[in-house]
Amino acid sequence: MKKILILGSTGSIGVNSLNVIRQYPEKFKIEALTVNSRIDLLEPQINEFKPAVVVVKEEKPAEELRKKLNGRCEVLSGIDELRKVAAECDYDILIGAMVGFAGLAPTTEAIKRGKRIALANKETLVVGGELVTNLCKKYKAELIPVDSEHSAIYQCLVGENKKEVEKLIITASGGPFLNKQKAELENVTVDEALNHPNWKMGSKITIDSASMMNKGLEVIEAHWLFELSKNKIEVVIHPQSIVHSMVQFVDGSIKAQMGIPDMKLPIQYALTYPERFENKFERTYLPKINNLSFFEPDFEKYECLRMAFETMDAGGTTPCIMNAANEIAVDKFLDRKIKFSQIPILIEKALNKIENHKSPDLDTIFECDKETRDFVTSLI
Ligand code: NAD
Ligand code: MG
Repeated sequence: MKKILILGSTGSIGVNSLNVIRQYPEKFKIEALTVNSRIDLLEPQINEFKPAVVVVKEEKPAEELRKKLNGRCEVLSGIDELRKVAAECDYDILIGAMVGFAGLAPTTEAIKRGKRIALANKETLVVGGELVTNLCKKYKAELIPVDSEHSAIYQCLVGENKKEVEKLIITASGGPFLNKQKAELENVTVDEALNHPNWKMGSKITIDSASMMNKGLEVIEAHWLFELSKNKIEVVIHPQSIVHSMVQFVDGSIKAQMGIPDMKLPIQYALTYPERFENKFERTYLPKINNLSFFEPDFEKYECLRMAFETMDAGGTTPCIMNAANEIAVDKFLDRKIKFSQIPILIEKALNKIENHKSPDLDTIFECDKETRDFVTSLI
């Protein structure tokens, strides 16, 4: 029986993780859940999965929940408790399903305890890639990707020699604006940007998919996870999202992992690896899909994707600067304070302004994140 801690159990990945876990009551037990503020969604999860402890970021909803539960489950609150639960609670696998930079601190706590991390929270690897991967080696923690592209690559690499990899081919749907010209992006609305053609996800990653920053973050995520340089990572647009990603080997052979777009499979694989558990999820019937197409991305239109490749080259804290600027810009776009087309402009300004620090430690990463957030906020 594996005990599980889910960071961000009320989000899209969190709920799908519980959908996976629900199938195997004899294999997995929920030990702890953490959320930002949605106790209306957390309460039924507590009733069903009976965790020993939950953490709610804000104290007010936590207090409300405490009264309702009447001692049935320990309810903690605050960002420090969130970190503490990862550092002290009794679990085997941490599912990193929080969104954004906030996932970094609790994830590093789990790594220091040599746990298995089923990582959806790609921002953790983007901002702290060097530190996080070094900590994983030092403490023998297993970082198994949940992001569908990285899970696909991970699955393609099973039984292979990593030295024989020629390149990774990461697929991208192209998002809702695939068929728009760059000039047309000027006036797109929040609702249009949130209307992803293939995936139903949280709002931040959905906007990142529209700008293709999501693919940029994934390129950096792949760079750290698979220890490959920029020239060995390629992005290909594949609007159907059936081929989740591919690996090309030195003999020219290409392996792909396929399936209908559904995050339950990569989540399950990260929990059960190296085994595969039987499930009843919907199967992929290729004749129904009929057509799979692939083409090159337009780096002029998708400026965020270009910048992500550039920050990967520059290294140090530049991916952290890009990520923090993007988190603020996306927030402000969702609040209808800025236009969609301002997202890459704000990121570029932050990259030109904030100093790069090589091989940053955790404190430096936190300082860089804060400095960038303050700077970008001051521009709006
Ligand atoms: P979401 O917005 O649906 O859910 C986020 C969860 O994190 C919620 O439970 C929320 O309560 C919690 N949370 C948010 N901010 C927090 C904070 N500051 N402190 C504590 N808790 C906080 O997001 P999502 O779509 O599930 O994505 C989660 C992560 O997984 C992201 O990093 C995303 O890039 C990645 N991811 C998501 C998908 C997907 O299909 N949704 C696919 C691949 C990767
Ligand atoms: Mg992905």
